Amino acid sequence: MNDVAHKITGAGQPDGIVACWSCNGPIAADALFCNTCWAVQPPRPMDHFARLGLDIRFAIDTAELDRRYFARQRQLHPDRFATRTPRERAISQNQAVCLNEAYEALKDPLSRATYLLKLRGIDTNPDGCNTIKDPTLLMEQMELREGLAAADTREAATQMLREAEAHVNQSLAHIGGAFAAGDLDTAGRETTRLKYLVKLVDEARTRRACFAPAAAAPAQS
Ligand SMILES: [Zn+2]
Repeated sequence: MNDVAHKITGAGQPDGIVACWSCNGPIAADALFCNTCWAVQPPRPMDHFARLGLDIRFAIDTAELDRRYFARQRQLHPDRFATRTPRERAISQNQAVCLNEAYEALKDPLSRATYLLKLRGIDTNPDGCNTIKDPTLLMEQMELREGLAAADTREAATQMLREAEAHVNQSLAHIGGAFAAGDLDTAGRETTRLKYLVKLVDEARTRRACFAPAAAAPAQS
């Protein structure tokens, strides 16, 4: 790779113009294809938001995320490269891998918050450590888990699931507000809380599945 291709600024927005590997013509650093020779371009270093043409923010339009992802995925579909050179096929596959990675990181709000904090230099899961250091959070999670463990009917487990889901929604609202206000401390603390709440929702679903639904009860989600 030449020096021009490495000219990338800090947070990962591709900077300006680079040279096409095939015809050496000038192209935008985030272009998938050269608009002179139409050769597919290798993935260049950029953050996941830039990869999908989105601004760096927590409150993204997920329908827009989907549109951008699927449009790029179509452009990189292997069928389109069946008659191209092995090098172009390999480059298109590399692009598709980077695109999928960006999409996976951004579509789920917990992973999006975690990634956004990482971009800002905050690691919410240092060394894979799962110990809760925040006493308030620890107390809350212990109480919620005790409540779930005590749920001994389908109705009680459903009630705990609803409660856990309400906490998740409230947590997402707090995270959105904190990012919008530039309050990274709160965003970090709340993202750690969300991680435990998401696990709690999973556990509540598992717990509820232990109890058979009553025969004539209406279907519940
Ligand atoms: Zn070219």
